Amino acid sequence: MPVDRMLPTPEARDLLELTRDIADKVLEPRVAECEKTGIFPDGVFPALGAAGLLSLPYPEEFGGGAQPYEVYLQVLEELAARWAAVAVAVSVHSLSCHPLFTFGTDEQKQRWLAGMLSGETIGAYSLSEPHAGSDAAALRCRATPVEGGYRITGAKAWITNGGRADFYTLFARTGEGSRGISCFLVPAGTEGLSFGKPEEKMGLRAVPTTTAAYDDAFLPEERRVGAEGQGLSIAFSALDSGRLGIAAVATGLAQRALDEAVAYAKEREAFGRHIIDHQGLGFVLADMAAAVDSARATYLDAARRRDAGLPYSRQASVAKLVATDAAMKVTTDAVQVFGGYGYTQDFPVERYMREAKVMQIFEGTNQIQRLVIARQLAGT
Ligand SMILES: Cc1cc2nc3c(=O)[nH]c(=O)nc-3n(C[C@H](O)[C@H](O)[C@H](O)COP(=O)(O)OP(=O)(O)OC[C@H]3O[C@@H](n4cnc5c(N)ncnc54)[C@H](O)[C@@H]3O)c2cc1C
Repeated sequence: MPVDRMLPTPEARDLLELTRDIADKVLEPRVAECEKTGIFPDGVFPALGAAGLLSLPYPEEFGGGAQPYEVYLQVLEELAARWAAVAVAVSVHSLSCHPLFTFGTDEQKQRWLAGMLSGETIGAYSLSEPHAGSDAAALRCRATPVEGGYRITGAKAWITNGGRADFYTLFARTGEGSRGISCFLVPAGTEGLSFGKPEEKMGLRAVPTTTAAYDDAFLPEERRVGAEGQGLSIAFSALDSGRLGIAAVATGLAQRALDEAVAYAKEREAFGRHIIDHQGLGFVLADMAAAVDSARATYLDAARRRDAGLPYSRQASVAKLVATDAAMKVTTDAVQVFGGYGYTQDFPVERYMREAKVMQIFEGTNQIQRLVIARQLAGT
């Protein structure tokens, strides 16, 4: 049964209906096979792009869907309920457009943004390095100023959509310390840029995560986004929005696990009754439902603050923390509800549990979210 959502406009209701329809027709039939084999779902991103689902939170002026963030996130949630990896890729694409949209010059936006938002191209966000994940300010990839632009040299890691993306929002060092990082928009196919083979991951296998090597790659100066040295604040500002995307994806995944668990518990019998009628198991399901509803409430609260132009950084970290911890707990409990069958690949709940784990890790681990929240409480 579809989630009974509170949506701000009739247009948003239509959009959610369209999303569910596309998710049923385009995502659901392919998810199990692609996740088992690790095969990239060709055709899926063009289909989402053609439906306008890759650019929802951006203005119409640049080809976006002009939707409030709370609506965009609920679309992501619906996508994640069918295919978490695809929803993560969509969220990362949106994240990779954020720096150009927010910090680019009018000329840069006129030149590149419409192409990025049209849905024909997909983006990636390249901040992490092999030795620098949580401590992003320790990144080493260097952009050395030269005549007309920069020469980029160094290694990046953990790039969602790596090797498949059409553009890479890159963070590289133009100076020393945390104020010595700059942001660049790198087209795929740049000479000197190459990718490692996809990581063999626990989940989200159909969308590649790769390393990248920059070997003296030249980028013209016009490809720098924002001022030299502004990169880390650009990265963090984008991540506030991106974390809400991950919170929504985690909520969708948890909702799906709950739905599967409830359906199974209404069918499966033990001791002469359906297992949902054993209070001990009914309470497990009730706790799962409470966790899913709380996750949704926290990300919607942060999104509504963002839509109203209020500060939302702390709420974004709270949402990421609450929703991804909820997804881990709910998917683990879903396996429990299925008993022995939950531990097999005959049912999808074991995959949901594997997919939930990474949500506590990327876009700032949940320890880092606590750090952000604690610092805001301390006012530092
Ligand atoms: C599937 C996947 C996709 C990803 N996609 C992207 C992407 O598209 N773009 C991108 O840039 N990155 C991406 N990442 C990278 C991800 O953001 C990092 O893995 C994450 O930030 C953690 O960094 P790390 O792996 O280096 O762990 P580390 O930073 O080494 O942390 C290891 C452990 O120490 C803990 N820790 C570290 N510092 C502290 C502290 N100060 N206090 C308390 N605990 C701490 C962490 O919470 C963690 O538990 C992806 C990662 C994965 C697994």
